Amino acid sequence: MSGNLFRQLPSVNEVLALEGIQELARDHARDLIVAAVRAELTDLREQIRQGLAVDGQSAAKVVASRVADRLGQEMQAKLRTVINATGIILHTNLGRSPLAEGAAQAAYEAARGYLNLEVDLDSGKRSSRQLALREWLCRLTGAESATAVNNNAAATVIVLRTVARGKEVVISRGQLIEIGGSFRIPDIMGVSGAILREVGTTNITRLSDYEQAIGPNTGALLQVHTSNYRISGFTKSVPLAELAALGKKYGLPVIDDIGSGALVDLARFGLQGEPMARASIAAGADLVLFSGDKLLGGPQAGIIAGRKEWIQKIEKDPLMRAFRLDKMTLAALEATLRLYLHEEHALREVPVLRMLGTPLEELRRRAEGLAEQLRGLAGLAAVTATEDIAYVGGGSLPDQGLKSWVVEIEADSLSDAELARRLRLGTPAVMARLRGGKLVLDVRTIFTYQEGPLIEAVRNALRI
Ligand SMILES: *Cc1c(COP(=O)(O)O)cnc(C)c1O
Repeated sequence: MSGNLFRQLPSVNEVLALEGIQELARDHARDLIVAAVRAELTDLREQIRQGLAVDGQSAAKVVASRVADRLGQEMQAKLRTVINATGIILHTNLGRSPLAEGAAQAAYEAARGYLNLEVDLDSGKRSSRQLALREWLCRLTGAESATAVNNNAAATVIVLRTVARGKEVVISRGQLIEIGGSFRIPDIMGVSGAILREVGTTNITRLSDYEQAIGPNTGALLQVHTSNYRISGFTKSVPLAELAALGKKYGLPVIDDIGSGALVDLARFGLQGEPMARASIAAGADLVLFSGDKLLGGPQAGIIAGRKEWIQKIEKDPLMRAFRLDKMTLAALEATLRLYLHEEHALREVPVLRMLGTPLEELRRRAEGLAEQLRGLAGLAAVTATEDIAYVGGGSLPDQGLKSWVVEIEADSLSDAELARRLRLGTPAVMARLRGGKLVLDVRTIFTYQEGPLIEAVRNALRI
């Protein structure tokens, strides 16, 4: 009996001849369509084998529509736009820093055409791609010279390699940090060929500890900002100016990895203790390193600012070719840096700074407005706007939350985890926090233009 049913199944060619399938050829390659038809027919055969009823007449059409769904699912882009409702501003897993409109536009223009990446337009001669950044970085940090590579991890490697390969680099035990995703100072040191010389203890390191470690094979003194953790209590570390004076006394370069590298003082947002690139140069560091996509709010990059002789040596290192920035990043970084030339522009245009600076009252209004609209959706059991805490993230300021406003939602008949999953798989995807059986949507990291799409996304997720 089931043999008959098998015979009623359409052939691959019969399905391929259907109009619905022909239309798919506009969007998908033929071999993919054929493979999807085969996969669906295999599924149908399996259903028959299990004794499930399959109507031979409608089967071809059923197969055709399932093929369309299957291809739509399978061929979706892996990278999708996400609404960040987590309240974590620099969310590394969500791409860290969103770009200012002007920076995104610059990357787009660079991407779609040609630009004077390594040509001096005045003379028509070959030039260096680093020149697009050098002047702006010098103005913004007060350094003699500057350059940039792929990220701060690469910056650390190339700086240590240039300055101290085969030599000892003295660093406090309290600064042997790990930044998420396997950036560990001892390992980075190993990769660069420099030799780690740790001094002091986890909580206390004195200037004399550094001085006693200096010997004939010392290559540099290194300070690393403990971005993502804090030691409190009985602690002592050496101010950079004192370390710089010690370096000068012994003729040793002082390197300062400041991590985030704020270019505006974050005290205005009530955030304390994030080092500024300019202050580090002013305190006497020979080389200062920081990320482009943390508090700077630009594209992924590692910025190196400091003494001209060192920058020249770094740019001559063969690794520079491997670590260099591509044209799109360079364009976006230059555009971001130029915003900082007029601080008001940076505060207004750079999304990270805007999110840090949004007044609590405005966040409250937005959360209440969002809650009001969400209450109109069928399928939500509870919608509450309430005050909460957001975080800077990206390994910055781990101990300082930012007051924020959130909307908590709870579905009638979906678990919190299922609602979260549906929101992640929707278009656009939404990432939120889960807490006590509720989904928490923090408005601090949601762009205002995303509020409409967010409500639509929740509506879609609630559909059974
Ligand atoms: C984040 C961080 C790094 C790594 O920077 P990436 O740009 O992510 O490579 C290095 N050092 C410190 C102190 C950091 O905070």
